[in-house]
Amino acid sequence: MSRFLSENNRDLKAYVPGEQPKVKNLVKLNTNESPFLPAPGVQEAVKQAADSLQLYNDLSAARLTGLLAKTYDVKETQVFVGNGSDEVLAFAFQAFGGGGVTFPDITYGCYTVWAGLYHLDARIISLKEDFSIDPADYRGNDRCVVIANPNAPTGMALPLSAIAEIAAHNPDQVVIVDEAYVDFGAESAVALLPEYDNILVVQTFSKSRQLAGARLGFAIGSEELIADLNLIRYSFHPYNVNSLTQAAGAAALEQPEYFEACRQTIMENRAWTKTELEKLGFRVLDSKANFLFVQAPGMNGAEYQKKLREKNILIRYFDQPRIRDFTRVTIGSKTQMEKLIEATKEIWA
Ligand SMILES: *Cc1c(COP(=O)(O)O)cnc(C)c1O
Repeated sequence: MSRFLSENNRDLKAYVPGEQPKVKNLVKLNTNESPFLPAPGVQEAVKQAADSLQLYNDLSAARLTGLLAKTYDVKETQVFVGNGSDEVLAFAFQAFGGGGVTFPDITYGCYTVWAGLYHLDARIISLKEDFSIDPADYRGNDRCVVIANPNAPTGMALPLSAIAEIAAHNPDQVVIVDEAYVDFGAESAVALLPEYDNILVVQTFSKSRQLAGARLGFAIGSEELIADLNLIRYSFHPYNVNSLTQAAGAAALEQPEYFEACRQTIMENRAWTKTELEKLGFRVLDSKANFLFVQAPGMNGAEYQKKLREKNILIRYFDQPRIRDFTRVTIGSKTQMEKLIEATKEIWA
């Protein structure tokens, strides 16, 4: 820390990302990326877009926004795109969190980070003993609510009725529903938008659309909420989604069969991996995401992670209360999952 860092930044606790190793022969199951290549057509679209890199990108991201609106059956004015959903979420915290924010004790780590960055008061609500979210805990809340659905790192999903209950009991607050993993078996709150003008759905191309490195996320909500996000964007960085990323995102959306095939495969591999781990005595939470949250028998999370690391397999451990016995395992290709099970058997042999 330099002596120049502003006083109000001195207490920041930044996000600690999962390891992004430089060596190649690792089975990488630690950051919830897709094991599959970008959709056919993405590479060509990016190449074409590169021919116009001397020009500024389309501020309105019209083509991409139009395709998203079509995909989710909403108006174009209900769609906002950002530089990864992290940016979209950060903008939403800044736009709607002034009166404070509420989220669970065990959830996506960035929520606490943004609360710190924007100096928002955070009210943390504990998950239940079984790691589920009780919507009743969020009734009559007087501040912005943030729910990851499915939740991270548990993978557990709430039914839409629970999201509706939270929105209905907080009519004067925005309920941000972070659906980074929704495509792997949960229900999207986009379906609730006609009824609730206070729900903001945030999704990403990083997990289910094979574009983590392109940095593309989006929000869907009422026209008014989207206008508020644009107010923040135009006050910060209007050209937030570069032209290569816009082209990549649009091309990916034009391949719905590929998207469908990839997510189905991940869900099949998840079911297979869960069964195999349970046979080995693991406790595996019910996941609707592209990862499993698992408790190894007689070994804490740090140890299991370390033992797999020695076998060139990366998984994610979170050194925080309540979940030190667990690790999060990204669902990759079948071959990767077979390697994980093989290595796990060796550890217990
Ligand atoms: C991965 C993730 C994000 C961020 O994704 P981007 O790559 O920034 O789009 C947001 N929320 C949750 C819960 C995530 O797991």
